[in-house]
Amino acid sequence: MQIVHSLDPLRNAVATLRQVGTQAGTRAGTVALVPTMGALHDGHLTLVREARRQADAVVVSIFVNPLQFGANEDLDAYPRQLERDSRLLEAEGVDLLWAPTVEVMYPDGFASSIAVAGVSEGLCGGARPGHFDGVATVVCKLFNQVLPDLALFGEKDWQQLAVIRRMARDLDLTRPAADSILAVPTVREADGLAMSSRNAYLSAPDRARAAALPAAMRTAIAAIEAGEDVAAALARLEADLAKGGFGSVDYAQLRDARSLEPLDARSQAPMRLLVAARIGGTRLIDNMAVAPA
Ligand code: AMP
Repeated sequence: MQIVHSLDPLRNAVATLRQVGTQAGTRAGTVALVPTMGALHDGHLTLVREARRQADAVVVSIFVNPLQFGANEDLDAYPRQLERDSRLLEAEGVDLLWAPTVEVMYPDGFASSIAVAGVSEGLCGGARPGHFDGVATVVCKLFNQVLPDLALFGEKDWQQLAVIRRMARDLDLTRPAADSILAVPTVREADGLAMSSRNAYLSAPDRARAAALPAAMRTAIAAIEAGEDVAAALARLEADLAKGGFGSVDYAQLRDARSLEPLDARSQAPMRLLVAARIGGTRLIDNMAVAPA
């Protein structure tokens, strides 16, 4: 696996991967990109494995993007473990690791930003002002740097996925095109907690309590699917989280799965329950499907 930290070597390496893929025969030398912030876990590696199945060559990026962190967030504390991560990626057969520095990504004078209205509003966009502008901007740059045929993202970050797909459609992106942005289902720990690099912040007792989040969500979904009033089910979810040891709930909402329109009743289109809640100072997010009426 090649590791590159600046733009010219990246472009050369991607061009070589394409050529090798093309020469290798039957397939077209397709390149998949898996963008990450590192501190890799099995959720990330599942994206990588899916990328290997879908493309001839796999590029993974690791970049802790300052633009998507708010002033009081965990940018400095965010785990950085490039050596460990590169060993994991090498073992997965990744071809190229793109690990730019902040100076390479945002050189002096950098002044542009991509704002995606609508789907970025509310939920994490409400709780973390500017977050999705930072995400859209860096993902657009990563796309233009690597020019992948397809890119893979986790359903774990459902709103992020909606923002990136909206951006790709709105800006007529071609590498990748909007319909080549693939979603991978959330990978969970044995007790149901969604894997996240931020789970490492949890103390052992809080880690044990954190499983209350997916459990409370499953209870609420069962109630909504059984026809219970949505507001009542969400209120009970918040109460369950408080009982389970969570501090505050940033949001617990039922939304249309695609448009992310807020819903106060069960609808006939696919829905999503999305929650962000804090435990011991760590903010956890999760989302799950809710079956249509
Ligand atoms: P991050 O490093 O947190 O920015 O995540 C990089 C990519 O991995 C994003 O597309 C995430 O949605 C995805 N991801 C993170 N955690 C999981 C998980 N538990 N299951 C599936 N995908 C995940």
